[in-house]
Amino acid sequence: MYQSEVPTITAKVQLHVHLDGSPRLSSILPLARKRGINLNVSTEEELKKAVVMTKPETLTTFLDRLTTYVLPVYKGCLDAVRQLAAEFAEDMAADNIIYTEARFCPHLLVGGARLTPDDIVEVVCDEFSKAEKMLNIRLRLILCCMRSMPEISIDMVRLCEKFRDRGVVGIDLAGDENAVEHGHPTDPRHFKAFKLAKEKNIYRTVHAGENGSAAVVEEAVDKLFANRIGHGYRVLPDKELYDRLKAERMHFECCPCSSVFTGACGPDFSKHPIKTFANDGVSFSLNTDDPVVTGTTLSDEFVVAETKVGIARERLIQTILDGAENAFLLPHEKSELQKHLSAIYETGQHCHQ
Ligand SMILES: [Zn+2]
Repeated sequence: MYQSEVPTITAKVQLHVHLDGSPRLSSILPLARKRGINLNVSTEEELKKAVVMTKPETLTTFLDRLTTYVLPVYKGCLDAVRQLAAEFAEDMAADNIIYTEARFCPHLLVGGARLTPDDIVEVVCDEFSKAEKMLNIRLRLILCCMRSMPEISIDMVRLCEKFRDRGVVGIDLAGDENAVEHGHPTDPRHFKAFKLAKEKNIYRTVHAGENGSAAVVEEAVDKLFANRIGHGYRVLPDKELYDRLKAERMHFECCPCSSVFTGACGPDFSKHPIKTFANDGVSFSLNTDDPVVTGTTLSDEFVVAETKVGIARERLIQTILDGAENAFLLPHEKSELQKHLSAIYETGQHCHQ
């Protein structure tokens, strides 16, 4: 869909991608059959029609595709989760991504009492460390708290701490932020968990300003101590907050195609908020979010940003460097990544024809 003549940018960094939004379409039906799960579709083509979006809808219908066709297939099965993690690593490496932070909520993959969230995180960490030895990629994990499940947030901090030496580097808050303005303010248990995460030096990112307002972004920064903002487009109408976050060099994890399909941003890519971010020198990165639903690779997102949004290639390369600067890595790992990228981009070896 986004094929173009534009050469692909190599050596990319991806900070915002949901592991459970990234399975291979070709793996879903065989796994469902093996596990005796009926998805009410019988061919990969039918599955593609049901899962991959082709036009703007809403965040709810976007997420429904994952809860209907993806989560049931992986939930409660360590082998399936292992396959998901292994294929994710291969697919990221194949797209010339040299560093990525995948995120997911382990509690959503437990499926019954037999498995624990610890079991799920453990297999993903195992697969990621195996993949790092075989592929040209570094992989880290972010664990997601869910806005509608405040009871698990404190446990997420425990898991982040338990697995910090195995590749878990951060905590996220995902789910419907729109509810915040419709009588469901952020539960105090999330604030407590994120404060604790800060005290324990666990990096924080928060989905905010995607379909919620600038106030949700402000809350993420001031009350959840976010190091980065997931999406953040809706900060723009609040000039004071926007200027403040620009001055503070807040990093925004932007997902162009996802934001249009969820209706977070309008359908006209040439007016996408990342154009303003790019013009204003804001620190932001490009990401796929849930590639099984968007039907995009990270390379596709760069093509969209260049050809449809109209951001110059040099500015797009800066987004990769800004992504690396805001990676949730240890200082020496981060400077290694930054040195590697600078070497590539300073010598102009970054384009495949
Ligand atoms: Zn997301």
